[in-house]
Amino acid sequence: MADLKALYQEQILDHSKNPRNFHKLEPADRTALGRNPLCGDQFTVYLRMEGDRIADVAFEGQGCAISKSSASMMTQAVKGKTEDEAEHLFDRFHDLVMGKEADPDSLGKLAVFQGVSEFPIRVKCASLSWHTLKAALESKGSISME
Ligand code: ZN
Repeated sequence: MADLKALYQEQILDHSKNPRNFHKLEPADRTALGRNPLCGDQFTVYLRMEGDRIADVAFEGQGCAISKSSASMMTQAVKGKTEDEAEHLFDRFHDLVMGKEADPDSLGKLAVFQGVSEFPIRVKCASLSWHTLKAALESKGSISME
């Protein structure tokens, strides 16, 4: 599994050990619970909205290094963005982890997740927090990556 090692780049390790915005947000305007049963990842995403802008975002829960670091970077990426901008970023991140993004470097730090496209099981880990964010924005409550 030498290739798997390439996945755990420095940033991913850093964010999994020291996740950013890793706490409960109270009060939160919207929350959603996301589960990835295949790996055991489970996170709650909290949003505080100002109009259609994500004024604050946080998460808590547990999961593998990929899922946790991805959630940490997701919160940094969408804080201050409008719902439309966040959903657009979700689409681009999804393309990235599916290996379909033409210009990965334009996604900044998120580009480190490009490597997961070769590992279908890890794609779910990396995209869990983004699906959970989307569920929170759409007031869906909970989602499961089955
Ligand atoms: Zn995982």
